Amino acid sequence: MVVGAGAAGLLAGIFAARGGARTLVLETRKSPGAKIRVSGGARCNVLPSRMEWADFHTRGSMNTVRNLLQSWPLEDVRAFFEVELGIPLKVEDTGKVFPVSDDPREVVVGLLTALERSGAALVGNARVAGLRRVGEPGSERFEIDLDDGRAIAAQCVCIATGGLSLPKTGSDGRGFDFARDLGHAVTPLHPALVPLLAEDGRWGELAGLSLVTRLNVLRDGKKVDSQAGDFLFTHKGFSGPVALDVSWNFAAPSGERARMEAAWLGDGAPEWEALLSRGGRLTVSAILREHLPRRLALALIARSGLDPETSLASLSREGRKRLLRELCQCELLVAGNEGYRTAEVTDGGVPLSELRTATLESRLVPGLYFAGEIVDVCGRIGGFNFLWAWISGHKVGSAVVSARSAQ
Ligand SMILES: Cc1cc2nc3c(=O)[nH]c(=O)nc-3n(C[C@H](O)[C@H](O)[C@H](O)COP(=O)(O)OP(=O)(O)OC[C@H]3O[C@@H](n4cnc5c(N)ncnc54)[C@H](O)[C@@H]3O)c2cc1C
Repeated sequence: MVVGAGAAGLLAGIFAARGGARTLVLETRKSPGAKIRVSGGARCNVLPSRMEWADFHTRGSMNTVRNLLQSWPLEDVRAFFEVELGIPLKVEDTGKVFPVSDDPREVVVGLLTALERSGAALVGNARVAGLRRVGEPGSERFEIDLDDGRAIAAQCVCIATGGLSLPKTGSDGRGFDFARDLGHAVTPLHPALVPLLAEDGRWGELAGLSLVTRLNVLRDGKKVDSQAGDFLFTHKGFSGPVALDVSWNFAAPSGERARMEAAWLGDGAPEWEALLSRGGRLTVSAILREHLPRRLALALIARSGLDPETSLASLSREGRKRLLRELCQCELLVAGNEGYRTAEVTDGGVPLSELRTATLESRLVPGLYFAGEIVDVCGRIGGFNFLWAWISGHKVGSAVVSARSAQ
């Protein structure tokens, strides 16, 4: 029995049923895969083209994450989509992998077709409300209560209910309650890959403006994260892939607050110091506007306390220093984040230490498995979260089959 027909649950169902396990997948929503449909800007960034361990985040052991990720190599996951599901994929300049069609429905349909062919049964409009382990030692089983009063029994259960992010897609966090009810811990949960709220409301005046930026995150004076990519000003703060990527530094209320600094235009920025030192009649506004969007150029000049019409010849050393700071180390104070309503993933979950690395089976409750976002593993932006969902779902599906054949 698989609870949840998202990315992880569909893979668990496909691989369990292919191996001969009688498999039922229960899903709250009428049509499964809601999150896949909205993912990647409604194009579905199905995978990354490259992967490093540092692309993943857990409060548990990174060695365990590495072992799990190695168990189904990235090339094999890609071949599953391209060869087995017949979905042509393309790699974009960012290193992200998308369907050539840019249509997330192709991924959902491919997975549902594979699930049907595997022999698994899928039931929509079936929200699991309770999950219990019952029976005498040796003949234990799970009893599953559905919202509508139906009850189902199962030998083993995979909880693949996702996290708390974007609850309208069906992931309302109920899975964490099932884990707790069955004796598991759940590490602290926070929205991650989430737009950030600015402390200074004036940044909202730049809403809609986007540009490549490098964001450096500092804690206690030390750089703890640095990412470059597309950055977007919103009415409330900061978004775009690069802001989402550093957002987990601002998820948990921590003793020492993190600070964020922007280097506008990132690694492609001009030699600002040389440009501003060359003298002449050109104004600071004119020189900045050659490289930066007008509204941002003017905001940075204002923040450095300069008159935009100041010529480079009359720019004081002190003024140049202040402007350089705004261009290369612009302080963006973060007041919080937009929360689960817009977060792409949930940071935290069922601890890896309570799961067997070889199978993702619970160390506490035999026959209970976890896959996907409900586990305390999340990835950077760029296809890493789906990669985790595919690999962990595949792991559980294959493990259930091995467990049956060992009996
Ligand atoms: C807007 C957005 C864009 C994203 N884009 C990308 C991207 O491009 N690339 C990427 O790698 N990641 C992306 N992600 C993250 C990615 O979607 C998730 O990491 C991934 O979907 C997690 O898979 P999952 O199967 O664990 O959970 P989910 O996909 O959330 O699936 C869980 C399923 O379980 C069902 N369920 C929950 N509770 C119950 C219950 N009690 N009974 C029955 N069913 C239940 C839900 O209805 C849901 O269908 C994005 C996320 C969001 C929100």
